[in-house]
Amino acid sequence: MIIKEAKFLMSNTKVELCPAPDKPEYAFIGRSNVGKSSLINMLTEQKGLAKTSSSPGKTQLINHFLINDSWYLVDLPGYGYAKVSKGAREDWRKMINYYFQKRENLTCVFVLIDSRHEPMKVDLDFINYLGNLGVPFVIVFTKLDKQSSIKTDSTIAAYTRKLRETWDELPRMFRTSAEKKIGREEILGFIEEVNTQ
Ligand code: GDP
Repeated sequence: MIIKEAKFLMSNTKVELCPAPDKPEYAFIGRSNVGKSSLINMLTEQKGLAKTSSSPGKTQLINHFLINDSWYLVDLPGYGYAKVSKGAREDWRKMINYYFQKRENLTCVFVLIDSRHEPMKVDLDFINYLGNLGVPFVIVFTKLDKQSSIKTDSTIAAYTRKLRETWDELPRMFRTSAEKKIGREEILGFIEEVNTQ
């Protein structure tokens, strides 16, 4: 897919205030610092579209972008900030839960995982939560350029083992590096494929 246009539409905390659910929607989420903004900027080829390194104190917002006038890309607030208060974590949980349950045009969630680390409970919990909700999702391993492909293979194998403990069917997995533009064609091709189904 060629990205002809990517524009920011709006940020809000309420599903009811999101754009009309008249186009397929693809949401991106992951632990803070996983490389979500960098990946969104890499996919859209717009350096400043998603803001990098948003601080944990900031309001947690659902950010909508319109791509090629035909689908929505959504930047969801991340999880796993160490310094977030219990109240803020609960607000995040409620907002995200409501979004996943109510956003009728949500087509697929991209769960970002840092390819350098062994499976982390917070990520596995989130994946299992999505699986239990029945929300379609794929996994995106980020920052491939930071280590050898052997290390990446071992992280992916470890996630595969962990997920097999609970699920018969495994989600699709993508390997990416925002730095080296790895995985761009694969992710955009996947979105195009789903959009034309
Ligand atoms: P976010 O908090 O998930 O939006 O993460 P950011 O996109 O702000 O990235 C967090 C940090 O990781 C920043 O310092 C980025 O420059 C760095 N980063 C993100 N993606 C990559 C990547 O693919 N390769 C490398 N080497 N660094 C990355």
